[in-house]
Amino acid sequence: CGIAGVWNVKDAFSVLHDVLLGLQHRGQESVGVVVDGFKTIKGKGLVDTVLTEDRWEDAEKGIGHVRYSTAGSLEDIQPIVAFTRKGRLAIAHNGNIPNGEKWIEMLKEKGAVFQSSLDSEVFLHLISMSEGDLKESIVKALKKVPLAYSLLILHEEFLAAARDPYGVRPLFYGKYGDGIVVASEDAALKAIGVEDIEEVPSGTVVFFSNKGTETVRFSKKEKRFCSFEFIYFARPDSHFLDQSVHIARYRMGEELYRENPIEADVVVPVLDSGLSGAMGFSSASGIPLDIGLMRNRYVGRSFIMPVDREKIVKKKLVPIEDVVSGKRVVVIDDSIVRGTTMGIIVKILREAGAKEVHVGIHSPPVRFPCFYGIDTARKKELVAGERAVEEVKKIVNADSLFYLSLEGLKRAIGRSELCVACFSGEYLHE
Ligand code: 5GP
Ligand code: SF4
Ligand code: MG
Repeated sequence: CGIAGVWNVKDAFSVLHDVLLGLQHRGQESVGVVVDGFKTIKGKGLVDTVLTEDRWEDAEKGIGHVRYSTAGSLEDIQPIVAFTRKGRLAIAHNGNIPNGEKWIEMLKEKGAVFQSSLDSEVFLHLISMSEGDLKESIVKALKKVPLAYSLLILHEEFLAAARDPYGVRPLFYGKYGDGIVVASEDAALKAIGVEDIEEVPSGTVVFFSNKGTETVRFSKKEKRFCSFEFIYFARPDSHFLDQSVHIARYRMGEELYRENPIEADVVVPVLDSGLSGAMGFSSASGIPLDIGLMRNRYVGRSFIMPVDREKIVKKKLVPIEDVVSGKRVVVIDDSIVRGTTMGIIVKILREAGAKEVHVGIHSPPVRFPCFYGIDTARKKELVAGERAVEEVKKIVNADSLFYLSLEGLKRAIGRSELCVACFSGEYLHE
């Protein structure tokens, strides 16, 4: 998911609209915005479908959310607004609480009433039940939940931006006029002209109010940022851990070739997410890059849509026969999760006359589910979950299949403060 927040900004509603549009790739199922006075618009679909009119021109603060489902039902659209014991709050959450159901059960035992099936509501109840003033209660609540969250909390008197102790999910803020804008990715802030962009540190909550900015560090764990943001999820023009996402992906492609030198006639990227990696692969191998698969840009991210993925992939990716016919093709994509996409791609390329189809993936096999907010499915849905690479190769019907090693991935990103649990099985939680 993607989250956005504004404080003391003129025309807050349209600024939130623009920032959420810059985060649209992080969620296309639903959109929600809450502004001053807790006025709310929520709906299914894209930012431009839901946030249609220029409403509430006098709004100066607010938070918003774009969602792709990791937990909860489609009806559960964020932000969530609630009257707590500490006052009225709205909350927008990117991430997922492992064993969220246990938290929810435990709170229900204590008498809590939930308005949705979202684990995000846990924070509201923990805040409401804590002792002390509102800010103290927020800090206490955050301390209780180990991960994974980037969180925005809107109150009459402040906007709070928080990141879990490991900093698994991203969060950035910067200056905009006399106010502040917060967003999941720096690229979405830059796009609207936000200046002095900084990262919300891990294990930290920043309160923005008319009295200024107050930063509270509530945990001192080692940072473990989601490597999948680098691989697939984020925009290529974003930066994490001071590294460019595009350049990291480009290097993943280079490393992939170094680890798997192969002969072929053309490198074909799976657009859009496989492009940066395919460029690196082409540059390292000297094999020319070409658009063998056209991308219909009016079809959204297929992974995110829960239904009919096969139909969607076919509509989305169309082969250019003149590029692939009679050729030894290497297709480069960022990842294989369930295997559906790559199976269809190989089929399409063969139908278009490719002589050989080799598949290069610029991340390691996804073997373990993510519990921290990226929807990489239950273990049995992961095609590489319990299969060797050779078996996956047969399933997608490729002439060869090769992945990047975990070491290669880390070299490409150039940083060690990473979560790699979906590849290694070494989780951050018990
Ligand atoms: P598969 O069909 O193997 O499940 O999907 C793999 C494709 O979906 C890849 O092209 C990749 O770009 C994209 N993808 C991989 N992981 C994720 C994810 O966690 N979320 C979303 N939205 N897309 C993903
Ligand atoms: Fe990211 Fe994988 Fe860790 Fe989930 S398990 S947070 S997808 S690196
Ligand atoms: Mg893709």
